Amino acid sequence: MATKNILIVPGDGIGQEVTAVGKKVLDAIAAKFGHTFHYDEALIGHVAIEATGEALPAESLEKMRKSDAVLFGAVGHPKYDNDPSAKVRPEQGLLKMRKELGLYANLRPIKLFDELLSASSIKPEILRGADILFFRELTGDIYFGEKGRKNDGDTAFDVAEYSRFEVERIGRKAFEAARTRKKKLCSVDKANVLETSRLWREVIQKLALEYPDVEVEHQFVDSTAMMLIKNPCRFDVVVTANLFGDILTDEASQIAGSMGMLASASIGDGTGVYEPIHGSAHDITGKGIANPLASILSAALLLDISFGMKEESELIISAVDQVLKQGFRTVDIADASTKPEQILGTDAMGAAVLKFI
Ligand code: NAD
Repeated sequence: MATKNILIVPGDGIGQEVTAVGKKVLDAIAAKFGHTFHYDEALIGHVAIEATGEALPAESLEKMRKSDAVLFGAVGHPKYDNDPSAKVRPEQGLLKMRKELGLYANLRPIKLFDELLSASSIKPEILRGADILFFRELTGDIYFGEKGRKNDGDTAFDVAEYSRFEVERIGRKAFEAARTRKKKLCSVDKANVLETSRLWREVIQKLALEYPDVEVEHQFVDSTAMMLIKNPCRFDVVVTANLFGDILTDEASQIAGSMGMLASASIGDGTGVYEPIHGSAHDITGKGIANPLASILSAALLLDISFGMKEESELIISAVDQVLKQGFRTVDIADASTKPEQILGTDAMGAAVLKFI
């Protein structure tokens, strides 16, 4: 029995809707296993800008630092997507949170629940058995380098930069994880063109000497993008830079059927942050149809990684599996075989998972 402080940071759009369900699942786990979870809430993104003028107010950051783990929703609002001139933007809150909390490793497990084989746009025979763990570097690369305009604003630049230290610490996490899985690591770069990628490859090659039991391959990002769709089962652990990881993991979400199914963990030196990989999804906000399973699976990752609660985490995953086996779906993962009465909204899907827990 443990006592933990969990900070709920719903953010914007469907972030609000899905984290409310994720929190209910944490509550059910606490009740079942006799744990005490204390909750607090903090603002980030558009809602924080509206309330304070800042995308990540100091008070929110302070609460994050003090908590044992953060369950995060999403940030983003249509107002900013079509206004490149906005100086304060919701995504700044996300990037600042990652940098300030030192969240350099983003783990994204891509695993297909068998029941969803037909929900993906990829053929079932290619997908069956796919199980990939992505390690995306999260606090470096082109996202955090110098950016600006010159020549009277007619030329723009974003600088990509990596240090040996940054590559080594994410590389080590990926090698360690590969050791607990199929002992296969694919390091993705663009070393034929980019200097940052040449450093990346050099560091991973050197690290490989310390992990002789792990089979390492180096692959270019363009061919990896193709291979993920052609033969996803050939991958076990994949480690890559911030920009490549951002794009490849969205692509890989199709292996799991929908963005609404994928959870992620951002970890580093302090508090871990757990969040769905999807954004604030303006197109479905307020309709009550967002898939809450990514947030529920993020809660499972939180329990496992930050609190070492394996049994609790596995119970959540098997509850999700059971609900899918019973044929229940949210709209994004429904197909022609789903009966209309089995299509559930956000809260009803959450209630179905709670029933199994
Ligand atoms: P998105 O992930 O919000 O949505 C992409 C598509 O997937 C949409 O059609 C959406 O309806 C669908 N979708 C996403 N999550 C779903 C769920 N749980 N259930 C059912 N369907 C789901 O990406 P986008 O449309 O490119 O961006 C929308 C906003 O989110 C933008 O402002 C963007 O900046 C922001 N964003 C935030 C994050 C984050 O907070 N980590 C990540 C990506 C995008």
